[in-house]
Amino acid sequence: AALRGRRRVARAAMSAEARPGVAPAEEGAATPGQQQALLAEMVENAAVWCAVHGLVVGDRANQRSGTVPGVGLVHAPFSLLPARFPASFWKQACELAPIFNELVDRVSLDGEFLQAALSRTKQVDEFTARLLQIHEKMMPINKKEDIRLGLHRSDYMLDSETNSLLQIELNTISSSFPGLGSLVSELHRTLLNQYGKILGLDPKRIPQNWAATQFAEALGKAWAEYNNDSAVVLMVVQPEERNMYDQYWLVNHLKESYGVATIRKTLAQVEAEGQVLTDGTLVIDGRTVAVVYFRAGYAPTDYPSEVEWRARLLMEQSSAIKCPSISYHLVGTKKIQQELAKPNVLERFLDNKEDIAKLRKSFAGLWSLDNEEIVKSAIEKPDLFVLKPQREGGGNNIYGHDLRDTLIKLQKEQGESLAAYILMQRIFPKASLTPLVRGGDWFEDLTISELGIYGAYLRNKDKVILNNQSGYLMRTKVSSSNEGGVAAGFAVLDSVLLT
Ligand code: ADP
Ligand code: MG
Ligand code: MG
Repeated sequence: AALRGRRRVARAAMSAEARPGVAPAEEGAATPGQQQALLAEMVENAAVWCAVHGLVVGDRANQRSGTVPGVGLVHAPFSLLPARFPASFWKQACELAPIFNELVDRVSLDGEFLQAALSRTKQVDEFTARLLQIHEKMMPINKKEDIRLGLHRSDYMLDSETNSLLQIELNTISSSFPGLGSLVSELHRTLLNQYGKILGLDPKRIPQNWAATQFAEALGKAWAEYNNDSAVVLMVVQPEERNMYDQYWLVNHLKESYGVATIRKTLAQVEAEGQVLTDGTLVIDGRTVAVVYFRAGYAPTDYPSEVEWRARLLMEQSSAIKCPSISYHLVGTKKIQQELAKPNVLERFLDNKEDIAKLRKSFAGLWSLDNEEIVKSAIEKPDLFVLKPQREGGGNNIYGHDLRDTLIKLQKEQGESLAAYILMQRIFPKASLTPLVRGGDWFEDLTISELGIYGAYLRNKDKVILNNQSGYLMRTKVSSSNEGGVAAGFAVLDSVLLT
């Protein structure tokens, strides 16, 4: 397989379609053999860089790699060179971050809107129903979250048909890769510092990426607002986590820059070791928790029993700062994304007309399935749509033939089953040839990229303490694959080369 990879890279090195830098800077500047040797050298240097800079994940091949830190590490999958991205769209995406942050906050305060918008979904989607139940329990006691912390990631693709930047989704819980994502930008800059001249690529065109330190800053500032020197940050994690080093980067920055300690607990451990005191203080294993940072709890599989749901409720009832609160979590559902895209809905939450126009420009077509005409079109032309359930974490969407079959099946079932999904316009980014590195092996393939812009938001009552764009994450996947998750094994980590 390695040999085939090399041949394909050699062939691509001569192609004008290749990601810039894989092609010779000048025609005839290097023979295919020299190109191939150069790439092999770069791959090796890059892999070493990953190892000595902590751009690593747990190796699937090692059973203990998801539970024991420091055991069974492998470099994270990455693309060898940054993805070209037009500077104008880059600027547009960055400008949207603080507006989306504010939107999430405003929508989160409208409990009735959230309950109403998800009322049909909850009848057919057990997971959403459970989240809404917790939300509902908080409403009558009028529980105020004075201090609100959001660590979001808004994902975009460039649609080649319309030449526009369109939002894929907005993540309000467990936005992953702030740690490793910033390292990939560093890796690419390092490679271009060495090879940029030969490749004709300028390392200065890779934007700075401070996602890890900026997320740590937001967590640190939230901790400071809580105002208890002996309190800790609680990171809620899955029992097995091969992406733990991405999380440990934040833990490290929090400790080093803010002197804040982090404890890691699973939902089951929170239930076993946690209590809420009469004044609302959340105490886990004897330690007061200032901030609960969720890196688990976004998928039904995170709640295998009632134990985990009790833990979620317990934390929500406490006065600890939740990142996210149940309301912020719900705002990030696909159904709410679709509701917000309806005419006149943004106007309910935001005042600034320019901001509203900017958001709306980034919305792709989104429809609920009670729109019979759209369902009919999707059955006729399934390739123009994506069918999405209320799920997170990649690998849940339905495409093509499956989309058609599913819609036909759902239509036949009487009742509300269609309400579990939304339909979205399919976005078609332009594909380019890219060398990808995974597990020390490299190969070249046609790929498409998805740009994630991180946003951090922190407020205490009327005071907005932070509302920032906080770095970025480029993910690149083989264009024949529908889904995009890195952890799920579909994509590699990447960075941006502004054009
Ligand atoms: P999740 O919350 O599981 O990440 P997403 O909405 O991000 O759900 O979908 C997962 C992946 O599916 C995305 O990363 C992207 O690769 C692909 N995808 C999602 N929506 C679209 C779309 N409208 N057009 C093309 N691809 C899409
Ligand atoms: Mg998501
Ligand atoms: Mg996604």
